[in-house]
Amino acid sequence: MPQVSFRFYAELNQHLPPERRQKDFLYAVEDPANLGDAIAALDVPLGEIELLLVNGVSVDYSYRPGEGDRISVYPTFDAMDVGSVTKLEPRPHRRQAFVLDVHLGKLAHLLRMLGFDALYRNDFSTQDILAVAARDDRIVLSKSTLLLGSGAITAGYRIRSADPREQLVEVLERFDLWLCTRPFQRCLLCNSLLTAVPREEILDRLPEKVRALSCGFTRCPACDRIYWEGTHAERMKRFIEDLFAEHSLHP
Ligand SMILES: [Zn+2]
Repeated sequence: MPQVSFRFYAELNQHLPPERRQKDFLYAVEDPANLGDAIAALDVPLGEIELLLVNGVSVDYSYRPGEGDRISVYPTFDAMDVGSVTKLEPRPHRRQAFVLDVHLGKLAHLLRMLGFDALYRNDFSTQDILAVAARDDRIVLSKSTLLLGSGAITAGYRIRSADPREQLVEVLERFDLWLCTRPFQRCLLCNSLLTAVPREEILDRLPEKVRALSCGFTRCPACDRIYWEGTHAERMKRFIEDLFAEHSLHP
């Protein structure tokens, strides 16, 4: 059983008991466990981890810890102080695409409203989520540590808040997305990108009051829903403006 020293950084510490937080601690790794097994045994979800350094060198989960190794574990996408540690590999660029668990429907709706690719279905099983995340290289958003702890997930974030608006802020902060929003580009129902459609083409499908509007129209190519700027859009615009104002940004 090789004895190693672990140090977890930033939010990853919340998964550890208090005596192991924010400091180096010694740990006897099961033989023949690899680094992924050892971290999972410490109850830290692999999906929240972005970078592993052993004695200052970047490794992956398959690394076999050896006696005396100094292991540093960093979370996903964090603007944090890494002190004197030299990162030998640039952080991989990840697509800003998400898949959400079945409890996060409102968050999916808000992410779509801001233009983000947020796949969500209320009948997705855990297996579906894992498969979609792997297939499309999606970041898994979930409230479940259990789900995010699955070794199959390479990028994930555990949502803390119960409030959808605060959940949205969590995601924007965590993945540094404040400047990447593109509101009203996506279907709120099915997540597809909307395309502009001439009013004449859809006139017979519009309510009487809407036909008189001079705004633009968009259509979802997947579910055929039609969007236009009405009171609902006004409310959403205000929601976005308020959100950005609170964070001293402009949409
Ligand atoms: Zn749609």
